[in-house]
Amino acid sequence: MSAEHSHSHSHHHHHHHDFAAANQALFDKHAHEADQRPDAAEVAAKIAEAILKAYPFDRDNTLVLDYACGTGIVARSIVPHCKTYIGVDISQGMVDQFTKGAEAHGIPTEKMRAIRTELKGEDHELDGIKFDVVMCSLAYHHIGDILSVTRLLAFFLKPVNFPDADISFRSNDQVVFRVHIKNLETHSDGFPPAAFCASGSTASVSEEVVDLSESAAVLDLLFQYVYPQRQPDLSEIELPLLADLSEAVEKYQVYAAMDICKIFMGNGLQDNPLTVLNYAVRHGYSDIADEAAPLTVSLPLDEVGTHMYSTYVGAWLKYYAEWQKILEVASAEGWRIGHTSPCRISNSSTCPHWLTARQHVLTKLGARPGALNDLAMIFTTAHGLYPCAIESLRQWEYFIVVKVKDIPKFRNFL
Ligand SMILES: [Zn+2]
Repeated sequence: MSAEHSHSHSHHHHHHHDFAAANQALFDKHAHEADQRPDAAEVAAKIAEAILKAYPFDRDNTLVLDYACGTGIVARSIVPHCKTYIGVDISQGMVDQFTKGAEAHGIPTEKMRAIRTELKGEDHELDGIKFDVVMCSLAYHHIGDILSVTRLLAFFLKPVNFPDADISFRSNDQVVFRVHIKNLETHSDGFPPAAFCASGSTASVSEEVVDLSESAAVLDLLFQYVYPQRQPDLSEIELPLLADLSEAVEKYQVYAAMDICKIFMGNGLQDNPLTVLNYAVRHGYSDIADEAAPLTVSLPLDEVGTHMYSTYVGAWLKYYAEWQKILEVASAEGWRIGHTSPCRISNSSTCPHWLTARQHVLTKLGARPGALNDLAMIFTTAHGLYPCAIESLRQWEYFIVVKVKDIPKFRNFL
């Protein structure tokens, strides 16, 4: 929706959805003549000029979202100054005109394209892209609830991207973040700019884009911790991303994020013990390492071999050998324990079920030390199958539990 249509339609006493529907119908109908207004080009040029002034556009990096993009007459003046320009509009007619215009000017779709959609502010929308600039020209007067639409559009902005920043970082997936050196210096100890500032003048730093090895998703969270604002909610973040963030937080010494990352990594150890163990040993969080290590014993050995940090594989194998020993002792104890109580099932003087019960447990224990993590389940099942052997089974289980508790903590192997 742009400057160019007539304003004869009424848009006053309607609910939001009536607005959208009415707008869509109107603009579908008038899209083809939208740029015909005599002053259209002049108005568009003025808008583009104002927008280009408001933000330091960078043709290699800047991503622009144009809400209610209309025919693209404004877009074409801005496209040369940005990397990618995505227009959205609820009118297919406008989107078609936008696309035609781009084609007519020989602009490739990677650089400039429009999508017919009604934005909702959900993570997967627009391929999850976050933008440097979200703009809207001459469409706000068609909107019923300006506050909620503005909030919606803010969702699509990168949270950390300041026009007056003095350093830019590029993620390994090519997203640029504009950040203030001062904030990095006061909230962290490990960022590259510290080196830049020490050696060169700050003037050259402003031109610099520093490449970092982290993904945009990680940096997006990381930089939020160096600004005075509410910290991101880590409870909704999947563990692989949380683990990457936690590594970055330690690497760049972002103090405000260290403790909260540690807490959330600790919460994730049940489901991802190896990832959490790696993190804990690298950064000296022995309490978490001690808690995660027993669970890694249940993992397939090839998985541990592939994903454990190589520095710690030797320590882990020694730890594993302790578990192996206990497993052998546990099996031997099963052979030692006798059983003479009268049978509750078969009426014989000695219970014949014990032999079967013992074999059941030995089979479940198998040759894998990880079975020692499943003792409760293994023995409870056996109780149900062989009720007259319960006492011997309890005695045996207790023996093993005590031995497992005595396995030295992982930190002793480091
Ligand atoms: Zn029996």
